[in-house]
Amino acid sequence: GRADAAGRASDPLAPATTPDDAVLLTARGIRKSFGDNEVLRSIDLEVRRGEVVVLIGPSGSGKTTVLRSLNGLETPDRGTLSFAGGPDLDFSTRVSKQGRVAMRDRSAMVFQQHNLFPHMTVLENVIEGPVRVQRVPRARAVAEAEALLERVGLAEKRDEYPFSLSGGQQQRVGIVRALALKPDLLLFDEPTSALDPELVGEVLKVIKELADEGWTMVVVTHELGFARQVADEVLFMDGGVVVERGAPKDIFTKPAEERTRRFLDRIL
Ligand code: ADP
Repeated sequence: GRADAAGRASDPLAPATTPDDAVLLTARGIRKSFGDNEVLRSIDLEVRRGEVVVLIGPSGSGKTTVLRSLNGLETPDRGTLSFAGGPDLDFSTRVSKQGRVAMRDRSAMVFQQHNLFPHMTVLENVIEGPVRVQRVPRARAVAEAEALLERVGLAEKRDEYPFSLSGGQQQRVGIVRALALKPDLLLFDEPTSALDPELVGEVLKVIKELADEGWTMVVVTHELGFARQVADEVLFMDGGVVVERGAPKDIFTKPAEERTRRFLDRIL
């Protein structure tokens, strides 16, 4: 059934999905330059609720900049972005601060490096956003954080400091911190690329479970086996454009574009 606000509050593990496949996010013609380096040259993207979109492509192709634009960490030069129920932001005109904040709050990002506050315990890291930014009562934030930590197998670490955790555990806390904000959309920017190889699996497993539970996500990753498992749609980017997009079975086994083929040959 439909998860309402009350349902979500009592079950912090439930993603904010609706039973239909309504479009959650639409991006049209997103352009971004840094100086005279044109990094995004008109990106279109549509993400349906409950869908997992995976961005692949060579380093420097603009994948991270796409994610950061969706999350308001970069401001596109042109193009439009809209989340269901929110305003249309048109970046060819001046976008209000209010509009940007409204957009930013719809998603939460998991970074390559976890970005945990080193002077705060695991629990404090997780409740910081809900309590300080979202004004959730502390007792409720703590209860939800504990449930989320339990969910990723880290309940017993709640009072530890980040330095005492393994890289994989730190990254799982990073994921919990994003979940605690109850965003409509989770953004993952190469969440395992900074990890020792033996720690990659435990983090991918958590992301896979969240995908199976119906969380909507956009994931940048070089883990193509994982991409193939979780993605509903794969976008191959190169040189600031989406060269090719489609179902993982098509992109990975019979790419239409020569550039996609060459990339896959190199990485697989
Ligand atoms: P990817 O995630 O595919 O590796 P990025 O989006 O990180 O690609 O980067 C695309 C291009 O944009 C690169 O050439 C990178 O150097 C450049 N770039 C990214 N962020 C900035 C920035 N803040 N300032 C200047 N150049 C940037």
